[in-house]
Amino acid sequence: MEKSKVYYYNNLSNLKSGVNKFFKMIAEDIEDETKTGIKIHFGEGDNDTHVQPDLLKDLNKYFKEPIFVECNVLYRGNRLRKDDHIKQALAHGFNFLEIDILDGEMGEDYTEIEIDTKNTQKAKIGKGLKNYDNLVSIAHFKGHIVAGFGGALKNIGMGLGSRGGKLDMHAGVAPIIDVDNCTGCGSCSEQCPADAIEVNKYAVIDESLCIGCAQCIAVCPEGVIKIPWGKRKGDEFLEKIAEYTLACVKDKNWWHINFLTDITMKCDCFGSKQEPFMDDIGILFSKDPIAIDKASMDLLIEKNDGVDPFKKFSNNSQHLLKYGEEIGLGSMKYELIKID
Ligand code: SF4
Ligand code: SF4
Repeated sequence: MEKSKVYYYNNLSNLKSGVNKFFKMIAEDIEDETKTGIKIHFGEGDNDTHVQPDLLKDLNKYFKEPIFVECNVLYRGNRLRKDDHIKQALAHGFNFLEIDILDGEMGEDYTEIEIDTKNTQKAKIGKGLKNYDNLVSIAHFKGHIVAGFGGALKNIGMGLGSRGGKLDMHAGVAPIIDVDNCTGCGSCSEQCPADAIEVNKYAVIDESLCIGCAQCIAVCPEGVIKIPWGKRKGDEFLEKIAEYTLACVKDKNWWHINFLTDITMKCDCFGSKQEPFMDDIGILFSKDPIAIDKASMDLLIEKNDGVDPFKKFSNNSQHLLKYGEEIGLGSMKYELIKID
C-alpha cells in the first residue's frame, strides 16, 4: 500500500502561517466549491486549550463559503442544545463564520448512514452533514480518558454522531433514571419518540422500546437521566468511533488538520481549565485521517521520550488506527513531509 502524505509544520512562533499554507493546499484541491464545512470542537465551559480561533481567522480568504459545523453533545453542559452551543462557541471567539449545528435544536435531527460494519449497521449522524460535500476537520490532538487519544477520528466520528449516535458509541443501551431525584414531571415521556417512558411517581424506561435517541437526557429539567458511561469498553468503543468516522466520510471529500499544541491529558469536553503537560509540537495536515492520527501520536511519543503519556487511559489506543485501516479509512503507513 502506498504511504499517505502527512505534512508537518513546526515553526511555533508563526503557527498562523502554517495553518494558512494548509488552507491554501486544501482550497487548491477542492473542485466545485459551494460551501465548506469546518468541523471543530469549540471547547466546553472554561476550557481554553481548544484550537485557538485567532489562528483560523483567514478561513474566509481561502474558501468561498466556510461554515463551522458541529453536533450537540450527549452530556449536560453548555453544548447540549443548539442555542447554548452557539453561545458557547461565540464566547470562545468562534464569531467570524456562520455556525451550523447539524443535528438540530436538541440533537433530534439525524440521518442513518448504512455502513454495515462489525458493530454498526447504520450510524446515526447529524442530518445536516448531507448538505456538505467538502469538509475540513480541525482537531486538537490531546488525551481522552476512554479512547486514549483524540485527534481527527474522534473529531469526526464522535463529533458528528447525533446525540443518539453518541449514546450508541458510548453505551449502546438505554439511558438510566435516577429515580430518587425524579419529580415525575413527564417532560421526558412527552418527548420520547418511541413511547418508551412511562411516568407514574417517577419515570421508567422500557428498554425493549427505547431506540437510544437520547432526547430524554436533553429535556429532563432535573438532569436525572444519565448516560451509562463505560458500557462499551475497550476495543468496541474504539471500533465504534472508526465506524462512525467511516459513515461521515462516505461519499464526501475530507481534509484533516491536527493541532499538536496545548496538549492536555483530557479532552476539550472538560469544562475546566487544564494545564498542557508537554511542549507544543506543531501542526499536521493530511487527506488521510488514519495517517494523520498515527503521525500525531508518533510525534507526541517521540517528544515525550518514547513514552505514550495516554497509556493509563487505554492500553490499546492503537487499535483505533489498526481497525480504522482495516475498514478502509486510510493507512497507518505515512510519509512525513516537513514544510517551512
Ligand atoms: S433514549 Fe430516546 S427512545 Fe430511549 S427513552 Fe430516551 S427519549 Fe425515549
Ligand atoms: S423529565 Fe426528568 S424529572 Fe421529569 S419525569 Fe422524566 S426523568 Fe423525571
